[in-house]
Amino acid sequence: MTAPFGGHCLRGAPGPSRLCCPRGAGPGRWPGGGGRRRWPEAVAMGSEGQRGPAAARGPGQGDPRALRRDCQHRIFVNRSLALEKIKCFGFDMDYTLAVYKSPDYEELAFNLLLEHLVAIGYPPEILAYKYDPTFPTRGLVFDALYGNLLKVDSHGNLLVCAHGFRFLKGAEILHYYPNKFIQRDDMKRFHILNTLFNLTEAHLYACLVDFFTNCSRYVNCDTGYKHGNLFMSFRSMFQDVREAMDHVHLSGCLKEKTLENLEKYVVKDPRVPLLLSRMKEVGKVFLATNSDYTYTDAIMSYLFDFSQGDKADVPQRPWRSYFDLIVVDTRKPLFFAEGTVLRQVDTDTGKLRIGTYTGPLQHCAVYSGGSSDVVCDLLGVKGKDILYMGDHIFGDILKSKKRQGWRTFLVVPELARELQVWTEKSGEQCQAGDTDFAVHLDSGSSERPDISSIKRRIQKVTHEMDMCYGKMGSLFRCGSRQTLFANQLMRYADLYAASFINFLYYPFSYLFRAPPVLVRTVPLFFFLPFSIYKDTQTSWHQRDITLTVLKENCFVPVPERWGQRAVPKSLSSSWDKCKPLGRRW
Ligand SMILES: [Mg+2]
Repeated sequence: MTAPFGGHCLRGAPGPSRLCCPRGAGPGRWPGGGGRRRWPEAVAMGSEGQRGPAAARGPGQGDPRALRRDCQHRIFVNRSLALEKIKCFGFDMDYTLAVYKSPDYEELAFNLLLEHLVAIGYPPEILAYKYDPTFPTRGLVFDALYGNLLKVDSHGNLLVCAHGFRFLKGAEILHYYPNKFIQRDDMKRFHILNTLFNLTEAHLYACLVDFFTNCSRYVNCDTGYKHGNLFMSFRSMFQDVREAMDHVHLSGCLKEKTLENLEKYVVKDPRVPLLLSRMKEVGKVFLATNSDYTYTDAIMSYLFDFSQGDKADVPQRPWRSYFDLIVVDTRKPLFFAEGTVLRQVDTDTGKLRIGTYTGPLQHCAVYSGGSSDVVCDLLGVKGKDILYMGDHIFGDILKSKKRQGWRTFLVVPELARELQVWTEKSGEQCQAGDTDFAVHLDSGSSERPDISSIKRRIQKVTHEMDMCYGKMGSLFRCGSRQTLFANQLMRYADLYAASFINFLYYPFSYLFRAPPVLVRTVPLFFFLPFSIYKDTQTSWHQRDITLTVLKENCFVPVPERWGQRAVPKSLSSSWDKCKPLGRRW
């Protein structure tokens, strides 16, 4: 299965059948028992080269369909990872172990931000704004000079530009950005809103710009607003919102409100203790969170508060017993560099014990601060032995990968919705623009085919698809172009999924294998959008627009001329396995 931007989910049913919508394999289907769970090796590996009759055997005993995982349970791969080699599983807490309910949690944070802004002097009218979960997307960039929210690709090319809730087009964009490009390195001007906590912040910028732009008391300027002899720049507005964010998080008011109504704001899932107990059977498990102990203890107690513990016949046990090491106040990303002083937490009072902790790892103890190096020392593991799971592309994933070489798993809750839209709509997008009308021309041709209608169709289909994701479009794409977020995900996350809980549906002997790719030159598609067939000789045909070639375990749409002139012979066997393909997928 190919993810929306090229990552792959391997294992299970080999060949094209894997691309079909699979049925779920609930936790009850996997073999129980203690010790490291092992699946028949050929199934667990499941690479193309090891496919064969044996690979088709497994829980379904010869029925490869039984191996397919539900789309929402899948884990996607950017770099191959043998789960068997992982000796240590690390977890972030907020938005990873503890999943906050959306949009209730964002609404809570948004209202607290508004209240704080009014308290420091902003007009009370802004309290009328309500959080709109369909507006913000993670990974947006706020331009503190012009007050615009931008969606950009990895190079800084503009994909979407909004001033308040108004989306700018053509000449308006060129007015602010003559090259439709930003220097992302200008950190004083451009601020990337990467985390799920930033969603409320992004929406708040749009609300404030919308309010001041449309309020008759204020005069609009390019870089802010005038009110009498006062001038409020977008930069000062940005600073006010950032301070409000700090206040909401550091003052404890957001945590307090969350703890007052945990059922409303935090997802409670009995699979969490089940998965962690299984992980602890095959390796070490640690928690590294930026939250303080008091809050962590309250959240984790709630998450693990099930009357029968992780198994039906085992009584409930304290949440701390699921971990070999617990570190709070980690101050990521500093944690992955020099870190801070490691101190021990008094779990009775929640207070920190004075002095740097230098002793051995203690069972069920809680520590504060420290660094990733300290974690490795205490657990007796190397960076490559660790698979760390978090939701923060920078603080959890990029830093742990770049600074420590840890294996990484990015939690992308938006993936569930992204997959759904991609599956339903990407075929239309593919059809809209994959025809090469200039295939008969070369550099000596003076003919210029009229492609204006194709361009309009691409724009229409792209816009319609983007609107299915939300007002800012997909987290990963704008049309065929990948966002900065998608690029960072592909670079730094070895694996990713909508939730870490998806590990429940894979054996711990699993090999997550990324397809070998020399250079990716054409977009990959999630499923076969067209009917294809092959005649008895060497010619390749298409029934619709695009000829699709099976390469490794993914389908690659290629221009028609590729199919008719140069289909690699090495793919022939795969082609044969494709047949019959005289139907839509
Ligand atoms: Mg987090």
